[in-house]
Amino acid sequence: LVSRDNHPERSTVSVGGVPIGPDTVTLIAGPCAVETPQQTLEAAQMAKAAGATLLRGGAYKPRTSPYAFQGLGEAGLRILADVRAETGLPIVTEVVDAHDVELVASYADMLQVGTRNAQNFALLQAVGGIGKPVMLKRGMSATIEEWLMAAEYIAQRGNLDIVLCERGIRTFETATRNTLDVSAVPVAQRLSHLPVIVDPSHSGGRRDLVLPLTRAAIAAGADGVIIDVHPHPEQALCDGPQALVDGDLRELSRVMRQFPPLL
Ligand code: PEP
Repeated sequence: LVSRDNHPERSTVSVGGVPIGPDTVTLIAGPCAVETPQQTLEAAQMAKAAGATLLRGGAYKPRTSPYAFQGLGEAGLRILADVRAETGLPIVTEVVDAHDVELVASYADMLQVGTRNAQNFALLQAVGGIGKPVMLKRGMSATIEEWLMAAEYIAQRGNLDIVLCERGIRTFETATRNTLDVSAVPVAQRLSHLPVIVDPSHSGGRRDLVLPLTRAAIAAGADGVIIDVHPHPEQALCDGPQALVDGDLRELSRVMRQFPPLL
């Protein structure tokens, strides 16, 4: 279903009216985690002012340590909905448990399945059946074939509104949090008709790498990028070292617009 063999035209997925696909390069930005109404609104205003058309923000945070901030849950979803009402930006937010899919989908414009759940087949089937677009991150140790098969689990439930997101993979390298697999962009686009975006924030894990990795992603033909921003990264409860501040995001957006679209 997700293969390009039977569907040669590349697909566009509409998220609350915002297209992600071959004719555009979509900027998604927002806080890694929803922390407070003020922080989320400020991050969304930064995103919108820089030209982002979708707001990201996690209310459910799958953290490596069980002692780290796990997100605000439904209270975070309510904050996102309020910020959407205020800014007009549709929301992309993660769901980590099949039991929460209905609840998260009642707030979200696009459901995010994160790297740690990329082969959680029960979750993939649940998001496939809920009737909302899905952003599927690549598993940090998944081959491209495994990633596309994960997408197939969603598609099999009748949902072809899937956006693939390359977010870096595990390699021997320790200088970056993950290694951005730039080649995954054209490879996945050739194998699948689904849009492919890149997360330069979670791949590098470092603010100074976000712009160069964005350039690499766009040059490779990515259909968009998803970027962490925070009004006060030093106070962030999650992934502050990779969050951009206002001026950085504007610069990134300006640079993105300099690349001519790839055919
Ligand atoms: C995220 O985007 O908030 C996130 C946790 O990303 P990943 O699943 O790629 O680590």
